[in-house]
Amino acid sequence: MRKIMIVLAAAFCTAAYAGKLNVVTTTSDLASITEAVAGKHAKVESICSGNQDPHHLQARPKFIMMARSADLWIRTGMELEIGWEMPVIDGSRNRKIRPGEPGHLDVSKHIRKLEIPQADMLTRAMGDVHAQGNPHYMLDPENAKIVATDIAERLAQLDPENGGTYKTNAAAFCTEIDRRMKTWKTALEPLNGKPIVTYHKSWVYFCNRFGLKIAIELEPKPGVPPCPAHLTRVTETVQTEKIGIILQEPWYSRKAAERIAEKTEARIVAAPTYTGSDPGAGDYFALIDLIVKRLTEK
Ligand SMILES: [Zn+2]
Repeated sequence: MRKIMIVLAAAFCTAAYAGKLNVVTTTSDLASITEAVAGKHAKVESICSGNQDPHHLQARPKFIMMARSADLWIRTGMELEIGWEMPVIDGSRNRKIRPGEPGHLDVSKHIRKLEIPQADMLTRAMGDVHAQGNPHYMLDPENAKIVATDIAERLAQLDPENGGTYKTNAAAFCTEIDRRMKTWKTALEPLNGKPIVTYHKSWVYFCNRFGLKIAIELEPKPGVPPCPAHLTRVTETVQTEKIGIILQEPWYSRKAAERIAEKTEARIVAAPTYTGSDPGAGDYFALIDLIVKRLTEK
């Protein structure tokens, strides 16, 4: 009986997605935007859940299975997924989603990139520096508009029949970003020009858009955990610049931030950087709403 149920369930799943595009994104923010653009015409899954740090993911058999049946693979690019993306794609043996194929979309292509390092800076001594610049561009909602437009274009290319719908949906997504942008900017106005501390260099595009100034990171170098000597430097910076906020993702230890908060006036703000990492961040709009809320609540 149980066997029959499983067979029926499998048949149902296949039927439910028949005719739909199968999209796999590397991160959950891209999945949220793809869902908004594709509507009912695609089944969308993300490799990273919102609670997983995309810098450090293991290529698991489950991810290879997801990639195997994908019609379209969407990545953040700029080396964010460098440690695991190709092992997953290679393992899937799915030629459609290899880089350069129509089934592979790197949405960083049209992004104005920040922090592109000089060639002579690219040594191991610099820490986890990405050659193409800082890959955390998705936290600027203006960049989410560029990404939605690129996704619509690629979906239309793969599924011309529904091309009009994808473009209409992407336009609606952009309009909604514009509408909320006014609210986000107004809410963050009191922080404009104010220095903050962040754990990792994840907030560069967000702060650039909304006028917050990053004085120093808790990581002495990208990807390198805080050490006592560096924490002394951060504490001094917080005191001299009268910094009120230490902003970090939920997956980092709070220990370093707590040690600074004990000695200064700064408070710790844990805010998600990916959709789905918090029940309040169910889609891309809710994610930015929640970041703004956490930064501004007293
Ligand atoms: Zn990073």
